[in-house]
Amino acid sequence: MSAETAPAVSADNPLLAESPLPYALPPFADVSLEHCREAVLSGMAEQRAELDAITGSAQPPTFENTIVALERSGALLRRAGAVFGNLSSSLSTPRLREIERELAPLESAHADALRLDPVLFARIDAVHEARHDAGLDAEAVRLVERHHLDRVLAGARLDDAGRARLSELNRELSELSTQFGQNLQLATEAAAVRVADAAELDGLSDEEVASAARAAADRGLDGYVLPLLLPTGQPVLAKLRDRGLRRRVLEASVGRASSGEHDNGPVAVRIARVRAERARLLGFATHADLVLADQTAGSTAAVDAMLASMVGPSMANARAEAAALAEVAARDGVEELAAWDWAYYSERVRAERYSVDRAALRPWFELDRVLVDGVFRAAELLYGFRFTARPDLAGYHPDVRVWEVAGPDGEQVGLYLGDFLAREGKRGGAWMSSFVTQSRLLGTRPVVVNNLNVAAAPEGRPTLLTLDEVDTLFHEFGHALHGLSSAVTYPRFAGTAVPRDFVEFPSQVNEMWALWPEVLGHYARHVETGEPLPAAVVEAIDAARLWGEGFATLEYLAATLLDQAWHRITPETEIGDPAGFERRALEEAGVALDLVPPRYRTTYFQHVFAGGYAAGYYSYIWSEVLDADTVEWFRENGGLRRENGDVFRSRLLAVGGSVDPLEAFRAVRGRDADPAPLLRRRGLTPSV
Ligand SMILES: [Zn+2]
Repeated sequence: MSAETAPAVSADNPLLAESPLPYALPPFADVSLEHCREAVLSGMAEQRAELDAITGSAQPPTFENTIVALERSGALLRRAGAVFGNLSSSLSTPRLREIERELAPLESAHADALRLDPVLFARIDAVHEARHDAGLDAEAVRLVERHHLDRVLAGARLDDAGRARLSELNRELSELSTQFGQNLQLATEAAAVRVADAAELDGLSDEEVASAARAAADRGLDGYVLPLLLPTGQPVLAKLRDRGLRRRVLEASVGRASSGEHDNGPVAVRIARVRAERARLLGFATHADLVLADQTAGSTAAVDAMLASMVGPSMANARAEAAALAEVAARDGVEELAAWDWAYYSERVRAERYSVDRAALRPWFELDRVLVDGVFRAAELLYGFRFTARPDLAGYHPDVRVWEVAGPDGEQVGLYLGDFLAREGKRGGAWMSSFVTQSRLLGTRPVVVNNLNVAAAPEGRPTLLTLDEVDTLFHEFGHALHGLSSAVTYPRFAGTAVPRDFVEFPSQVNEMWALWPEVLGHYARHVETGEPLPAAVVEAIDAARLWGEGFATLEYLAATLLDQAWHRITPETEIGDPAGFERRALEEAGVALDLVPPRYRTTYFQHVFAGGYAAGYYSYIWSEVLDADTVEWFRENGGLRRENGDVFRSRLLAVGGSVDPLEAFRAVRGRDADPAPLLRRRGLTPSV
């Protein structure tokens, strides 16, 4: 779309100018979906015009007139895209999905134009050639290198025919990903399990039964509905005493989006094929090779070596866990343990062996208390951040709350938005994203949001978390800290703009504070009595830590190896049916175990087919190596101390993508990462 045919933005569109609210928080109350649509379309045209001004310049290319000009460009698109992108994750509607389908291919073509414009690339190439002789500082040199590499990997060196083909492939991929995500959301809602008789829900708390009744009422149904969460495992499976219902829940979960109207099988096959063709066009053997060229792991061989070292030990541990489960299940007359029994008997073993009943812990984990007295307090002790509720600032939904963040000397840092409750139209899982990213060049400060999917408590009752949800909140807040701590010049490097296999590292580190005695003792108070979590329970949680790690590691490895298999195909690979491909991939990788299905199966593997994790799901465990080693560093240095927080913040969180990630790691740790702490943490013995 050229600048001449760009739709004008109506004068009353609140996205047209920078928001007048503090920290440029979007004025949600005034922004409609139609405003977003119009502003995204217009924002693309505006950025095209800015691009034309850069490429049409008669001046020789310089860092300022090319790279910095690019970093400044696209203000309207950035603003509108952030609002629309966040709404599509957190507050989707039929109209929004319609706009999404309309905009996705246009945005993909726009991104291609920015990455592949030959005149622009020639200018960037010239700046890149001269980068060491232009008096640039280290961040500026790295910025030039990143812009250059981004474009080389995206195909800027292709000839005209190659670029045209690439654009077609990118457009098709963008449509397919949108279709995958929408199929999944609708199939997941349709696969929610209906229960007629409350007796079948035996094992759930009154509150969970009420929540299931409300889920049914929301859908205009009688009885009860158990909605599905994104991963294979569903929290209710740990509690439901009715074996038949457990089976129905697990089968609904693993079968979703695998047949009928919202079948994602053919969509996944098509996505993998198109990615394979694109990788070949760009000079790589497979999509995985292309992806890894730009990650800290560096190569498929490095990923294979790390994963292979964990397969044997995790399979052995999972089998040992299965034997323990079968023994307990036999007492209930279960002759053959099945996948739908795993979580239920795992909780029983945990309760018997370690006297921890995880379900009974929820009264100690009231959402606001965990957030304010746990998550915020740990950040205050480590980094000196202070959080002040700003009820005067509105989010995009009544559930969303806003806090202002101040630094150790009272300086203004940014805004933190919390959107913790599940609802229709919100995608599954938990995540952090940004409305505004920090940049000295643009004079912006961060506005970040955390989304969780905690079941809302009945009216007037406090919202209670499971221990896993407590961990998730600390984790997502770790991403938020990465965004809030950002102190870079260029927006390209802000906060979480680091390689995918590094981005989970700071968030995983932040999980360590959930059970840190000084933090836990402060937030884990019984919702009715105010009593702290008894010391014996805390010890038992710690003792039980390794129980279930065989299962957890194996289900994760299975999903990871499945992701790698889909992205190691060539355009000629015969796939047959997607379920068969999946089965063979798991068998060949040595992780096929009926009792432990992958954490995500192909048809609902949103991370890799409709998210940014294609060939990158390994990142979680790759970055956990860095995480476990860093946790040891915190421990060696006295744990929760400002001195430690200051080192971690200034050398790692603050620099975002502006320095080489492993260099930032070494600046904290003093050496390269050691994998031993991770193996110890998971109770895995290295295979010999
Ligand atoms: Zn994360």
